[in-house]
Amino acid sequence: MPTPRELMELVRNKKAAIQAQSGRRANTVKPTPGKSKWRILPGWRGESDPQFYHDFSQHFVKGVDGSIKAVYLCVEKTFGKMCPVCEAINGGISKAGSDEIINALKEAKSKGRVLLNALHLDGEDPSAPVILDLTPGTFEKILEVMEQYGDEGINILDLKEGVDLVINRTGKGLNTEYSVMAAVKSNPVDPAVLKKLHNLDEYVQQEYKEGETKALSAVATVSGLALAAPAVSPDKPTTPALPSDFDDDLPFELDGATAAPAPAAARPTVTVAATVEASEDDLEALLGDLENV
Ligand SMILES: [Zn+2]
Repeated sequence: MPTPRELMELVRNKKAAIQAQSGRRANTVKPTPGKSKWRILPGWRGESDPQFYHDFSQHFVKGVDGSIKAVYLCVEKTFGKMCPVCEAINGGISKAGSDEIINALKEAKSKGRVLLNALHLDGEDPSAPVILDLTPGTFEKILEVMEQYGDEGINILDLKEGVDLVINRTGKGLNTEYSVMAAVKSNPVDPAVLKKLHNLDEYVQQEYKEGETKALSAVATVSGLALAAPAVSPDKPTTPALPSDFDDDLPFELDGATAAPAPAAARPTVTVAATVEASEDDLEALLGDLENV
C-alpha cells in the first residue's frame, strides 16, 4: 500500500501534468501599456495568513536558433528548492564549446516573477480578481507604497480603507519600465471578491515529471550541439540574449507537447532577437537599473 503522502504526490504530479498539457490553467496578466489602475487584494490563504503574493519562475529553454524547446517551472525561484534544470543549465554552460551555446543556455536561465491577486479597475471586468504577474522590481515599488501607507497605519490591501494603485508601463521589450503610485482617489472593494481569489499555492504547483524530463532533455540537446556543431564563424554574430521571460509580449502558456514550435513563429519578439544586441550581463544590469528607478 502506498502511504497517503506518496499517493498525494502522485495526484499532484498528474494534476499539474494534465493542466500544463491542456492549457486550462488560468492566465496571468501583466500591466497594460500606459497607465492602468489596479487594486492589490489580500491573501488567498485566509485572514490569519498575511501571504498575499507568490514567487514564480519558469525556464524557457531555446535552441541556438532561438526557437522554444521547452518551458518548465524553476523550482528554485518558485519554491526555494534545488532545481535540476538550473543545475543542468549551469553544467552545460561550464562545458559548452561555443558562445552560441553559452548564450542559448544563458537564455534558458529562469528569471523571478511575483504573482498577486488583483483587480484591474479600468480593465474589462473590474470585479473579477486576476493573477497579476510582475517583475521583482515592480513588486518592490508596490512594497514601497505599502510601507509608506503602513507608516500612517493604513493597510493598502484593506477592502474598505485600502488604496488603488496606478501602474504606468512605458517602453518595449528590454526597455520596458514600470512606475507605481497610489491613486489620488480609491474606492472600497466588494468583499465578494474574497470568494473569487486565485489560490496561488495551487497555481504555482506546476511541477511534474514529464515536464522536468522534457526540459532536461532540451537542455541536454542544446548543450550537446556544442560538441556536434561546427565552429562558429567569427564574422557571424552570436545569438543575442533574448530576455523573453522578461519581455511582456511573450505568451505565458507555452507548456505542452504541441505548443513548442508555434509560439516561436508567432512571437513578435523574434524580431527583437535579431535587432537587440544585448548580453545576459546587459540584461542583468538593465534589470538592476529598472529596480533602482
Ligand atoms: Zn531552475
